[in-house]
Amino acid sequence: MRTVYVNGEYLPEDEAKVSIFDRGFVFADGVYEVTSVLDGKLIAFDGHAERLKRSLSELDMQEPMTTEDLLEIHRELVARNEITDGLVYLQVTRGNPGDRDFAFPDPNTVKPTVVLFTQSKPGMAESPAAKVGMKVISIPDIRWHRRDIKTVQLLYPSMGKMMAKAAGADDAWMVEDGKVTEGTSNNAYIVKGGKIITRELSEDILHGITRAAVLAYAKEAQMVVEERAFTVDEAKGADEAFITSASAFVMPVVEIDGVTLGDGKPGRVATRLRELYLEESLKAAV
Ligand code: PMP
Repeated sequence: MRTVYVNGEYLPEDEAKVSIFDRGFVFADGVYEVTSVLDGKLIAFDGHAERLKRSLSELDMQEPMTTEDLLEIHRELVARNEITDGLVYLQVTRGNPGDRDFAFPDPNTVKPTVVLFTQSKPGMAESPAAKVGMKVISIPDIRWHRRDIKTVQLLYPSMGKMMAKAAGADDAWMVEDGKVTEGTSNNAYIVKGGKIITRELSEDILHGITRAAVLAYAKEAQMVVEERAFTVDEAKGADEAFITSASAFVMPVVEIDGVTLGDGKPGRVATRLRELYLEESLKAAV
């Protein structure tokens, strides 16, 4: 049985409890992070800790603890659950005010709820999906307009995955004002004429930690990066496409709305970036 962390305690998963009045449960008033573990080490921990701070600050939520304490809990859970490859999920909510009320509770009396747990995924870096590539469909992006804050309001992304599944695809790319914003749980990219194209950072998309690392490695490797929005039609005419996220790393996309990209196999740029990302982020893992 897994050991999980809840508000200062390490507990067996079936003994961990959160109140039914918790604002995370009642209002989706909470933020989260997912950090990958490879070879027992945390990938890009600092980036996730920084983004967590930003999400909390944008929602006027208090930081529940220091980054050092957070790192300690991540490491402790990885050790206790003997995670070699997998991930650590972290959620911070505005806590339990003891009743249901739209107004935020006083942060001096109501402390945030902090929950962390691990998921084991042996051999995660050698995903067979990376060798065949993913199929995506496009769907309208009807989420709220602060997608740069990593909140636990994941109902629409969840519905998007179901729409993809119903269409025989693996994921959905969301589209707003004719342009792709991002995947349901990842950032979206196309490659045309050797150029890597991905939407610029704004409140319209999550500022992916993997995105930042991959773009930095790409630039170091003299690849050309263009940060701008692209249409679904442009994506269908691209040489290749891919997505990035903490748990999928770099994953090639080979089909968009039933249109095959290139020869239908993972592209060279996506494959190279996946190798580069895994290699470099493992070197920097803590
Ligand atoms: N966009 C969305 C909507 C996401 O949910 C995620 C993953 N949480 C990402 C992008 C990728 O971010 P990261 O690389 O930090 O995992």
